[in-house]
Amino acid sequence: MRFVQEPFSDENLAFFREMDKTKKTVILGIESSCDDTSAAVICNGLLLSNVTATQYVHEKYGGVVPEMASRAHEQNIIPVVHEAIAASGIDKNAIDAIAFTRGPGLMGSLLVGTSFAKGLSLSLGVPLIDVNHLQGHILAHFIDEPDTDTPHPKFPFLCLLVSGGNSQIVLVKAYNDMEIIGQTIDDAAGEAIDKCAKVMGLGYPGGPIIDKLARQGNPEAFVFSKPNIAGYNYSFSGLKTSFLYTLRDLTKENPCFIEEHKADLAASIEYSVVSILMKKLKKAAKDLGIKEIAIAGGVSANNGLRAACREAAAKYHWNLYIPKFSYTTDNAAMIAMAGYYKYLDRAFCDISLPPYSKVTFDR
Ligand code: ADP
Ligand code: MG
Repeated sequence: MRFVQEPFSDENLAFFREMDKTKKTVILGIESSCDDTSAAVICNGLLLSNVTATQYVHEKYGGVVPEMASRAHEQNIIPVVHEAIAASGIDKNAIDAIAFTRGPGLMGSLLVGTSFAKGLSLSLGVPLIDVNHLQGHILAHFIDEPDTDTPHPKFPFLCLLVSGGNSQIVLVKAYNDMEIIGQTIDDAAGEAIDKCAKVMGLGYPGGPIIDKLARQGNPEAFVFSKPNIAGYNYSFSGLKTSFLYTLRDLTKENPCFIEEHKADLAASIEYSVVSILMKKLKKAAKDLGIKEIAIAGGVSANNGLRAACREAAAKYHWNLYIPKFSYTTDNAAMIAMAGYYKYLDRAFCDISLPPYSKVTFDR
């Protein structure tokens, strides 16, 4: 069965859009790019259910073990999808399309969600929509929830997308038209924070632990090297090395140094990461004359980053959009949301499309 056809004409798309306004479009979203198995149901942008099974099996290894992640996805995917459909209160035959994360992410993990989505689309006889995980993080800002009135960013807006695998500044021109104007040339912000936490002997993932500790520490207690990168690009590998060398030298003098200065170290590393992120975001906003600013991705849960954004918003008169905590890390609600906007453009995908592991916005 094939759902991909010649591109629709503008006339046909306009006809579909008029039709969509009068009908309820139900999208099932499936996310399995890393270590969260998630499924969600969205009707015309309104979230009906969002169920996520987080894999705790990786904690003791200090990072995600890809083989274990795909195995856990296999175990979780049927109950998670089942629960999401049941909790939404809709019949599975009311689903209009299935949106799934095609990439970027861990190949083994992506294969589970992708294969499941394909099988279900065949059995239900509905189209498939491939979603770029990063676009999903950004479009999480458009999720509506029952009885809540969340303001959505207006186009064009800038989105600072910071997660375990990515650090980017994205110019969002429309739901399905985004341009990466800056990105990390090496490590992602979340990865750098997680690595520093690991060096300090804290648990995994380190981001939330650093965040908590940082609230009690002095952000200016330690100074680490800052990158000097052109344009809106980022680099975090130098900061990681600088943190590592600082600890190496200080623990040589005092083996209990980390334990005695945990909060100050956490506050200082968080402050460094946030300053690096904010510098380029402010520059991009100023250069492009854009005051609609959003943040997204796992690191957007960070309280230091949220505070720095609020401060900049007050100073530069930004309209700032900060996601709900539950939409910062990986979830299928954002995938269903992105799927909905692709559905409105009838951007369906062929069942033969394979997942991809590397970041790109071209697909
Ligand atoms: P990815 O999709 O790239 O796997 P996610 O969007 O799931 O990443 O985000 C996970 C990252 O977010 C991890 O690096 C984690 O440490 C980080 N993170 C989560 N909460 C916080 C927080 N409160 N402060 C800083 N980093 C955080
Ligand atoms: Mg993510």
